Amino acid sequence: MNTIAHHLQQVQDRIAKAASECGRHPDEVGLLAVSKTKPAPAVEAAYAAGQRQFGENYVQEAIEKIQALKDKYPDIVWHLIGPLQSNKSRLVAEHFDWVQTLDRLKTAQRLSAQRPAGLPPLNVCLQVNISGEASKSGLALAEVPALAEEVARLPGIRLRGLMAIPEATDDGEALRAQLLELKQLFDRMAEKYPGIDTLSMGMSNDLELAVACGSTLVRVGTAIFGSRNP
Ligand SMILES: *Cc1c(COP(=O)(O)O)cnc(C)c1O
Repeated sequence: MNTIAHHLQQVQDRIAKAASECGRHPDEVGLLAVSKTKPAPAVEAAYAAGQRQFGENYVQEAIEKIQALKDKYPDIVWHLIGPLQSNKSRLVAEHFDWVQTLDRLKTAQRLSAQRPAGLPPLNVCLQVNISGEASKSGLALAEVPALAEEVARLPGIRLRGLMAIPEATDDGEALRAQLLELKQLFDRMAEKYPGIDTLSMGMSNDLELAVACGSTLVRVGTAIFGSRNP
C-alpha cells in the first residue's frame, strides 16, 4: 500500500474507533481529505484508495487541480474550506460542489446568482466563529439563524449545515464546550431546515473530540498527506 492509502486507512480507523466509543455508527462521520498545497497526483493516490471528497483552501490552486482531474474523476466532490473573497465567487460557483466558509449574505447572493443553471445548487455550510477570536472569520452563534433564513431562500445554493475551525488550545474542556455549543445550534437548525445534515468540525489533531461532540464531517489534511510546507 502506498503511504497516502496507508494514512487514509489509519484516519478511517481513528474515525471508526472514535464513533464506536461514543455509541455512533462510523458511517455517520464523513471524511473530507484536505489536499491544499498538495499536487494532483496526491489527490489521485487518495482517490485510488477510495476517497471521494476533497477540501481546498485557495481558489486558484484548487481550480487548477479541478480542471486537471475532472474528466478522469467526475465523481470527486470538491469543497472550498478557505476564505472566499467576493471577487472569486464566480469561479467558485462554477467549479466547486460545496462552500463551507459562507458567512455573509452578499456572498451567498452572488454564489446563488452565479451558479450555472446546468449544475445542481451549490451546497453551503455557514462558518461559525465558535471561539470568538477577533482574528477569525465566521459568524457569531447568535448571527447564524438570521443568515440561515436568508440563505435558505436562495435558489442557486443549498443550506447543508455549519462549519467551525476551533482555536488552537490545550484546554480540552473549553474546546469541548465550544464544539457542544455548535452541536446544539446544529440540532436546532436541522429541525427547522430539512436539508441540513452536515456539521463540519474536527481536523488531524482533534478529530476524536469532534466526533464525540457530534461532527458529521471531519476535515483531515496532515494525517493523510503529510505536513505542508509553509
Ligand atoms: C488546513 C485545514 C484543515 C486540515 O488541517 P490538518 O491539521 O492538516 O488536518 C481543516 N480545515 C481547514 C479549514 C483547514 O484550513
